[in-house]
Amino acid sequence: MSRDDAPMKSKSAPAQGSRPSKEAAEGAVRTLIEWAGDDPSREGLLGTPDRVVRAYDEFYRGYEQDPVAILRKAMEPANGYDDMVLLRGIRFSSHCEHHMITIVGVAHVAYVPGAHMVGISKIARVVDAFARRLQIQEAMTSQIAAAIDEAIAPKGVAVLIDAEHQCMTTRGVQRPGVTTVTTHVTGSFKTDPAQRREFIEVATRCAR
Ligand SMILES: [Zn+2]
Repeated sequence: MSRDDAPMKSKSAPAQGSRPSKEAAEGAVRTLIEWAGDDPSREGLLGTPDRVVRAYDEFYRGYEQDPVAILRKAMEPANGYDDMVLLRGIRFSSHCEHHMITIVGVAHVAYVPGAHMVGISKIARVVDAFARRLQIQEAMTSQIAAAIDEAIAPKGVAVLIDAEHQCMTTRGVQRPGVTTVTTHVTGSFKTDPAQRREFIEVATRCAR
């Protein structure tokens, strides 16, 4: 199983046959504890493999979620509303696929409805479904836009993500406070520079 290139429309859970057992995953954590230089059999660490594996269930729950299906279930007629709908400051945490270290950030997501709109809480769930996978920020930015495009066929989608990569701030070059900004726009946001500008202005006015 290659989880890191799981398709955007994950059919649901990864193939059960190829997922290691919980015991095997706990064994891997014990190996990493030894690699770090500690003793997995000392008292304070006895419960750690179990806790780490259960934390992974939360961190990587997104593989079992289908963002397009989440949106389609919440679709409703736009009834002529054809202006930008913008969700600002959706907080998320994810893990970079290079180091499996935390990425913490905010996503701003806008769309201009076509025939349909979608419950706003569902947009936040879509951000979460992609965040809870091994990610690179650029890919996550375009995956969110593509899912909204596919699910509700809006006139355009715009996504801006501003995030801190702890693999940059706590190791390697160690630059605390540096954030990475990525944007992806489709449809009317691409063809109409004024609309794109309005999105960037309103989104970035939001305090992180
Ligand atoms: Zn990294």
